[in-house]
Amino acid sequence: MDPQFFRKGDWGSGFSTGLFSPYATSGGSATSYGLGTLTHELLHKKSVGGGFSHSDMNAALDAVGVAGGTLGRNDISDRIARLCFPGSSK
Ligand SMILES: [Zn+2]
Repeated sequence: MDPQFFRKGDWGSGFSTGLFSPYATSGGSATSYGLGTLTHELLHKKSVGGGFSHSDMNAALDAVGVAGGTLGRNDISDRIARLCFPGSSK
């Protein structure tokens, strides 16, 4: 597993957050990718279905045909964002 590290400033609100963070907008709302990243991390937890691996997640995402692959973003988080949280892309 490769935990993703969160920077507290990425989740705040304000102009610089809106400009530089992939996780939040300047209004302080989470973006699709932010929510996808949280969901990705939650799926690793042992308390969630025993903890899913990356191959488990990719198999499930492949099965429903979700594309991803935004440059510089975690592919699984990006795919979960497109599938589950399509409303707030950035
Ligand atoms: Zn992971």
